[in-house]
Amino acid sequence: MNDTPDIAGNLAEVRRRIAAAAADVGRDPATIELVAVSKVQPDDRVDAALAAGHRRFGENRVQEAEARWTDRRAGFDDVTLHLIGPLQSNKVKPAMALFDAIETLDRPKLARAVAREIADGAKAPELLVQVNTGEEAQKAGVAPGDLADLLALCRDQLGLTIAGLMCIPPMADAPAPHFALLDELAGRHGLAVRSMGMSGDYETAIRHGATRVRVGTGVFGARDHD
Ligand SMILES: *Cc1c(COP(=O)(O)O)cnc(C)c1O
Repeated sequence: MNDTPDIAGNLAEVRRRIAAAAADVGRDPATIELVAVSKVQPDDRVDAALAAGHRRFGENRVQEAEARWTDRRAGFDDVTLHLIGPLQSNKVKPAMALFDAIETLDRPKLARAVAREIADGAKAPELLVQVNTGEEAQKAGVAPGDLADLLALCRDQLGLTIAGLMCIPPMADAPAPHFALLDELAGRHGLAVRSMGMSGDYETAIRHGATRVRVGTGVFGARDHD
């Protein structure tokens, strides 16, 4: 018996739906990246995605990602890993050693730690600033009103290149206004990448300008926990 979900089929279906949503608003689906969120998933499902040719993955914990990917990625020359979970400043060094993209930059202390590592010779990852569009007290991300200052610090004082913005809308809200806000903020600051939309709402995100969607259960099936 094999209870692994049909990962190749799921990937094809998500890609089909991405293309359809893009077509609805006259966008080229090739401009939308699919991050397969493999956090918590069993390794055999990740291997199935790799076997299906998928190469872009998201993880939310540095140590878990190290255990899964350090050896596994060495078998491929084109795996791209995105950190999509909160980052402690004392984990910046291992995070930068593993991840190609850090999507959760959200405070000056973290920006300074990243800049310090780059000054010490670390490879600069692609950096996205996470915006707490719902201004939820317990959620990571910079408040929309503090975004301009954080971007100015990164660009003008620390010499960091910020590629774009990322958000996770509040569970209780309709996501569309949050996606529209992130798109507007990215445009206002001249940032190209908009990382928004998960399994339940990535088509809505694409209609509001997502250039990157992060899909976990839609690709890999349900998780045991978050
Ligand atoms: C878990 C997670 C996802 C994927 O969620 P699904 O609903 O399983 O698609 C996307 N983004 C972030 C930041 C996550 O933590």
